Amino acid sequence: MTAHPALFLGHGSPMLAIEPSRFTVAWEQLGRELPRPSAILAVSAHWYGRGTAVTAQSKPRTIHDFYGFPAALYAIQYAAAGAPQLAARVAKLLAPAAVRLDEEWGLDHGSWSVLRYLYPQAEIPVVQLSLDASLSGPQHYALAQRLAPLRDAGVLVLGSGNVVHNLRMLQFDPAASAPDWALSFNAAVRTAVQAGRHAALAAYESLDAGAALSVPTPEHYLPLLYVLALARAGDAVTMPIDGMDLGSISMLGVLVGGA
Ligand code: ZN
Repeated sequence: MTAHPALFLGHGSPMLAIEPSRFTVAWEQLGRELPRPSAILAVSAHWYGRGTAVTAQSKPRTIHDFYGFPAALYAIQYAAAGAPQLAARVAKLLAPAAVRLDEEWGLDHGSWSVLRYLYPQAEIPVVQLSLDASLSGPQHYALAQRLAPLRDAGVLVLGSGNVVHNLRMLQFDPAASAPDWALSFNAAVRTAVQAGRHAALAAYESLDAGAALSVPTPEHYLPLLYVLALARAGDAVTMPIDGMDLGSISMLGVLVGGA
């Protein structure tokens, strides 16, 4: 059995959950084409805080963690089961890092806004892993490497964030082109991913002159490292989705293995 692929997706605006676009069409296609996982470990930008935790409920709730959006978004439920055994395994793999088995979080929109396109039937159990805000990029990368055995168990590790994510610089004019700093940083990430320069990607602050504006806070960038850290010699690494949304949000997706 070959190792299961790992996937990073740029999730973009919550509105994509109810407004299909070329990005959501690409997510649906990936869901059809990738081998079926036994379970999903989702690393979402939207669970970023103190320490590392995994959701351990058998029925995780759907969290609507955004404000001021249409009622249709708040009505969405993604009723995937949890996987307490997988949560326990993740905690074991990440040791000696302390991992909290969490009963309060659930699936936030970083996870379900893409999962509802990847696996619309919600038939595959999902566990979420939080991002410890006290760790550096290289520390996140090192932690993520310990999750490697999950690929051999058919688990899809799904990172969900955005390589470029600056909400203060959004452009709502569809005719406007993306700013140079965003395009430059996105291109630098692409080039480094292609070349397998993971140390440079983990130390993203000095990857490119556009880093400070592209990654003003780390939480949307870090899920990429959890996917890259699982790459093995001989894995194909492809970028099946790219493009900027609203000027300052990169929708770049990275697939490790499986191509
Ligand atoms: Zn987000």
